[in-house]
This record gives sequence, C-alpha cells and structure tokens, in this order.
Amino acid sequence: MKALPCPLVDVHLHLQDDFLAARLEEVVGLARAGGVEWFCSNGAEERDWPVVLAQARAHPEIVPCFGLHPWYVSERSPQWLEQLEWHLEAIPSAVGEIGLDRWKEPRDEAAQEEVFRAQLAVARRRELPVMIHCVRAWGWLMEVLRSEAALPAGFLLHAYGGPVELIQPLAEMGAYFSYGGSTLDERKKLRRETLPQIPRDRLLLETDAPDMPPPPAHCVRALQDAGGRRVNEPANLRPILQGVAALLGMEEEELAEQLWANSRRFLGRWLMART
Ligand SMILES: [Zn+2]
Repeated sequence: MKALPCPLVDVHLHLQDDFLAARLEEVVGLARAGGVEWFCSNGAEERDWPVVLAQARAHPEIVPCFGLHPWYVSERSPQWLEQLEWHLEAIPSAVGEIGLDRWKEPRDEAAQEEVFRAQLAVARRRELPVMIHCVRAWGWLMEVLRSEAALPAGFLLHAYGGPVELIQPLAEMGAYFSYGGSTLDERKKLRRETLPQIPRDRLLLETDAPDMPPPPAHCVRALQDAGGRRVNEPANLRPILQGVAALLGMEEEELAEQLWANSRRFLGRWLMART
C-alpha cells in the first residue's frame, strides 16, 4: 500500500458499537496502518454518550460527537437535553448523529422535528459542527434548515443520499457532503450520479462503521459478527478512498490532499483540540 501525503479522517462512524468497542485497539490500529488518523465517532442515543466519551478520553484521535438520532427519539429520557449538554461540555466535541428519517417505521415526526431543532439550537449556541442523518426526508430537512438561523460551524450530511438539485442550496447553507462504502456499489445509481457534482471543497469520506460495509472486494478483510452479519470498520476508509478517486478520475494522493484540506476547514479546531 502506497503511503499517503496526509492523514485520512473517517468523518462518520460508531466506535461505541458493541462489536467494535470490544476490539477497539485492533480496529483503530488496523485503520491507522492504512493512514486513517482521525475518527469522528457518533453517539446516537443517550446510552451511547458515556461510552463515546470514555473512548475519546482514552484515544485522542477519536473526535467525539453526541446526538440523539431520529430512530431513538421515542426512548429519550426527560433529562436527555441536559445530559447532551453535559457531554458536550465535558470534552471538545460535535453534535451528531441527529436528523430526520421517513424510512423507519413506526415514527413520530413531530417528536423527530422537535428533537432535531432542539439539537440545532444547542449546536448554534455552542458553535459546534453538526453531523446530520437524512433518509427519505429531503424536502422536510430543507424546510427545517431554511426556517432556522445559520449554523455557525457548518454541518455534514452523512452518506449523502439527496438529489443533485439540492447540492447547491445545501452548499450555500454551509454543508459538507460525505460518501461511504455504498458509493462503490454499482447499484447505488443516485450516489454515483451526485458524487461528481459535489463541490470538491465540500467533499468528505466516511465508513459509517459498523454499518454500510463496502462491497466485499473493497474491504480490507472479511469481518463478521457472531450472527454472520458483515461488519464495516474504519480501515475500509482506505479502499473507499481508492474507489472514490477512481470514480472521480483523480489520483488517490490528490483526493487525499483535497479531503484533508476540507477536514481541516470543517473540523480543524476539533482535530487540534485533541492533540
Ligand atoms: Zn451513522
């Protein structure tokens, strides 16, 4: 494997996942051997937050993100917002994974929107970057973002699955767009169509590990949990970089440098705070 001219940042994953957490040293070590030096690890529900915090305290290369994901809004405790603020105060961190989702059933859209807006307000007040999940809810997301004041530290649309037409308006609001392993799947036509349209200075890459494993040919190894489910890991960011560079007609090194410049612009303060 060629050495890269700069570090890689996995801008969205979940190292608090039980399977990954049980082998954290190994998983992070293998990723670092491939050039991945930073990991934006997203808590998605309240019980994740102390785990994300403890892992980040033990590993300065983990950038912790705390958020309540739309799939888990119905399980929130009465103190959830207070708990969120406590974790954001405890360590330099970002807000995520938060968002809107019209895919998973059952869902409470009013609660999703209330929880999402409350977290946007926290991010705005604390001037923190936001990691956004949006599935089948693009019109709704645009409505909410347009009705809210700007987010001073910007936001990331993780695993961008929106249409081409929204790239420009979202970029004008300060969006970064991240792509993961599914982009390397030839059947993911929409992702392959939007990828080359993303302004190059707003593009980022992620694994979303343990979810969204790239096609097996683009994985560093065949990792499976006890139930036989394929498990994604941050080391796969390197083959994702290779595959995305090929789709964009770029050299791997050239894309890595562009991504590093983008990561520093978006997350520089958070990367530096931890070294
Ligand atoms: Zn995620």
